[in-house]
Amino acid sequence: MGNTTRSPTEQTSAGSYVYFNVVVAGVLVMSDEKPLGSEALQQRQMALSRWENEGGSGPPEKTTSAGKLVFNASILTPNAGRRGPVTERDALRAACGSSAAAAGAGSQFPPEARVTTGVTARLKTDPACLRKDTPLYPLRFEPIYQYRLWGGRRLKDLLSAPLPGRGPVGEAWLLSDRDDHPSLVADGPFKGQTIARVLERSPEQLLGQLHGRLSRFPLLLKFLDVRKSLSVQVHPSDAYEDLIPPGNSGKSEAWVVLEAGPEARIYAGLKPGTTAEALRQAIMNGTVDRQLASFAPQPGDSVLVRAGIVHSLRDVVVFEVQQNSDVTFRLYDWGNIDPETGQVRSLQVDKAMECIDWGQAAINPVAPLVQETRPVLRESLVQCEHFDMTRISGQLPFVVGASGMPSVLVCLAGEGHVQYAGTRYTFDKGDVLLLPAVVGPRSCEPRGVVSLLELSLPHA
Ligand SMILES: [Zn+2]
Repeated sequence: MGNTTRSPTEQTSAGSYVYFNVVVAGVLVMSDEKPLGSEALQQRQMALSRWENEGGSGPPEKTTSAGKLVFNASILTPNAGRRGPVTERDALRAACGSSAAAAGAGSQFPPEARVTTGVTARLKTDPACLRKDTPLYPLRFEPIYQYRLWGGRRLKDLLSAPLPGRGPVGEAWLLSDRDDHPSLVADGPFKGQTIARVLERSPEQLLGQLHGRLSRFPLLLKFLDVRKSLSVQVHPSDAYEDLIPPGNSGKSEAWVVLEAGPEARIYAGLKPGTTAEALRQAIMNGTVDRQLASFAPQPGDSVLVRAGIVHSLRDVVVFEVQQNSDVTFRLYDWGNIDPETGQVRSLQVDKAMECIDWGQAAINPVAPLVQETRPVLRESLVQCEHFDMTRISGQLPFVVGASGMPSVLVCLAGEGHVQYAGTRYTFDKGDVLLLPAVVGPRSCEPRGVVSLLELSLPHA
């Protein structure tokens, strides 16, 4: 009751802080005999809304089998050139606001919560706990949820981390090496580190033959829950340097449909003969869908949407892999009003027109290419210059990973594990495991029938 445990603060005598990673975590014991008091619920709500408002990363809370509710607010605070130790007050200020910090740690949490406040200062120099030669291992990351006006609540069936708040969640970023929303390693010696830090520390272990060529992990992986229509949009290819801000690239993407609702539709590609003039006219008239090729998707369909292809989605849950880029030009938004702002969202019609591939045909689901049927069914879904995607289905052990190259596993159904250096790395539905190049080919052992996607990077 009312225990406050403090994890040790990491400090350095010489290094300057890059940013604070502040984790305020609490365990609220939920039981029938002793329901949470209103104060506890309020504290929990506060931690969750801070988490939502300030771009917290990782799942905000998780219910364990023991009936405990674990919440976790993790906030990255840029350091304004400050030197010196990070205190618990800094942690509270970042996690709970300045008034809470002024009141002190003891008053922050109700007596029925056992609270751990951990403060970690990340340093430019390596923290002592991670030696230069700390070996990499199969990495799991905390999902990062994103509010989107077109989103829904269906990702809760896919990921074990509970969805935040009550609003529409459109995206769960599964693996992201982007500064605005960096993925954090979920367990092991690198727990809490961003993928960028892992790459900076151990480029050769992570990327193998590709090290030295890539300064960031080149793929962005997401689950999307598109309940309403996604805006009609296009992404530029790498060739349109003038349209791509620094730190971004062109963007080709591919989807695997996981769920299709009654209104499900995928729009990809223009109808033959569509001209820029006709498309502009259709945007003004609100008849853009008549210019787009479309089909009713089924679960299991995969679609490759190269840069320059006009596209939109409706009433589907998909897995998405894309080049690590955030450049989107909206052509049309179906008249949607963003309830958060009460405004329509901005369009970038001129830029979109510039990078549309006018020779595009109607895009249909890919025909999977069967590579083997034993011991498991292995189908190549997508091969393009930015990524390869294979689907593996079955229940006998099979090989994942490649020597000298990283790969990423995404579990769509079932469960299993990958064995590496004497440790089992388990996964189940919705989990993502990044196999660093140093891990090499491994046996993957399903428990029952699994369906996995394996993503790899082209050599050249
Ligand atoms: Zn897109």
